[in-house]
Amino acid sequence: MNRLETDVIVIGGGATGAGVLRDLALRGVKAVLIEKNDLASGTTGRNHGLLHSGARYAVKDKESASECIRENRILKKIAFHCIEDTGGLFVTLPEDDPGYHLRLIKGCADAGIKCEVIEPEKALQIEPNLNRTIVNALKVPDGTIDPFRLAASNVIDATGRGAMVFTHTKVEHLIYNQTTITGVRCFDKLNKKSLEIFGNVIINATGAWSRDICESAGINLNMLPSKGSMVIIDYRINNVVINRCRKPSDGDIFVPGDTVSLIGTTSKTIPHNKLDDPVVDDDEIKVLLEGGKKLIPNISKARLLRAYCGIRPLVSISEDADGRDISRGIVLIDHKKRDGVDNFITIAGGKLMTYRLMAQMAVDLALNKLNVSKKCKTHKVPLPGSEKKVPGHKKIKYFSGISESVVGSTHFRHGERVHQILKKDPKNYGLICECEMVTAGEIGYAFSDLYAKDLVDLRRRTRLGMGPCQGTLCAYRAAGVLSECTDTDEDKATEQLIDFLEERWKGIKPVLCGDALREMEFTYWIYEGLFGLGGLVKS
Ligand SMILES: Cc1cc2nc3c(=O)[nH]c(=O)nc-3n(C[C@H](O)[C@H](O)[C@H](O)COP(=O)(O)OP(=O)(O)OC[C@H]3O[C@@H](n4cnc5c(N)ncnc54)[C@H](O)[C@@H]3O)c2cc1C
Repeated sequence: MNRLETDVIVIGGGATGAGVLRDLALRGVKAVLIEKNDLASGTTGRNHGLLHSGARYAVKDKESASECIRENRILKKIAFHCIEDTGGLFVTLPEDDPGYHLRLIKGCADAGIKCEVIEPEKALQIEPNLNRTIVNALKVPDGTIDPFRLAASNVIDATGRGAMVFTHTKVEHLIYNQTTITGVRCFDKLNKKSLEIFGNVIINATGAWSRDICESAGINLNMLPSKGSMVIIDYRINNVVINRCRKPSDGDIFVPGDTVSLIGTTSKTIPHNKLDDPVVDDDEIKVLLEGGKKLIPNISKARLLRAYCGIRPLVSISEDADGRDISRGIVLIDHKKRDGVDNFITIAGGKLMTYRLMAQMAVDLALNKLNVSKKCKTHKVPLPGSEKKVPGHKKIKYFSGISESVVGSTHFRHGERVHQILKKDPKNYGLICECEMVTAGEIGYAFSDLYAKDLVDLRRRTRLGMGPCQGTLCAYRAAGVLSECTDTDEDKATEQLIDFLEERWKGIKPVLCGDALREMEFTYWIYEGLFGLGGLVKS
């Protein structure tokens, strides 16, 4: 049994856990993060990627709205390479309650969110695909944020400052001495080894899974996991975030992201035992498309790329689990105060948008327990990739032999790190994924520097396979690069290729009709007809 000691143990490698690890590292505290799958493989990698202005909450929840706009301003400074400052619109359709438009203007003013009334014609110029019958329009500072880049940037900054990270490692039990938690027992799934880590404070940042970790300490935490599904369209049908101006509901938001757009979302409470493998239901796709068509009628002609869902980590603070008092805000629990269990903290709820603030709150409490007084710096220190604002990719001239668009895409994904990725060796300039312009060099960098352990992780670091072909033309090339730049042998690389295709298949299956079906058949011919992958049995 391997054994390790540290000051603080962070469980969960979503945005919250990654943010906690970075905050600790910036305050000079030794810390270890444990994630059972990959970074951002939980809810962090399964949401809209909306950089909220707060307007979506402004009518009903002023506190969340104010939190969002404050964090929106901070993230635009410290994490701009993860953000597209697209702006957003709220539009009213003829059948919507016209009073909501006025309540939203007031709510935004109360929360300090800039909200500009514009003529419907102006909104149609900004978004030519919008429903032409809109009666009112508002402009707000919404944007988009890439959750994969955000989590990875937090982690690489933390590890650069001495923190440690174990991915694909599951916390199986908390170790405790009477009423004090002293460590965790974990299982490293890749190397099939157990590991014990001891620390003075343990922070539970496992989102929707927080109840399981608490149970291991004999603590009851009521959660109401709520599933939300989203559908992706194969191109950017909208330029800015489009919200329907009414009480948030199903199918009322379009968010552009990288090369695609998505329609969100639904809300369905699901049983706790379905957290690990939630599926998108047919009725959700129907509701999303019907709602989406009202905002952008053209989506009926678009190809659907895939559908996916995430679980909202909703915590019920009281014992009453009927949902009436369920909190959608940030929940910080000092288990010493609440349950008499020492050295144990849970941080859950909130939003991707508020991950930094959640981390700050959890670390303030942890440092209080450690009797350390160091101030939070995460609102000031830029993340790796956002150190210096380079306008576009024009200044990156010295990469001869590589097209501007490839440099631009790499810069878009990794910010300032583009230099590190592309300056290495021209032989790495070869394009592996044409949809997202991912080079062999970027793949090598993801495996060497960004904690990618397999092809599915690689997708989260680079977007390889996320574009219109969904991995059809790049997955087998990526498997080749994987075996060249890591110690993965050919058989294992082939197994990873099968896992990658299975993972893509899960998202394509719910929208399998029309062009998506034709594309899938093409993929099948390549991988089954040409490579015979279906006949291979995994060891
Ligand atoms: C449909 C939907 C849309 C949303 N849209 C937005 C949006 O547009 N903007 C926004 O700001 N927010 C949005 N949210 C909310 C946001 O996604 C979440 O609040 C946020 O991502 C939660 O992050 P987290 O790190 O707390 O949890 P997670 O990302 O779920 O991280 C928890 C991690 O803990 C790991 N874990 C669990 N158990 C163990 C264990 N035993 N050992 C080790 N690791 C473990 C999990 O694998 C997981 O990676 C949305 C949520 C949903 C569901």
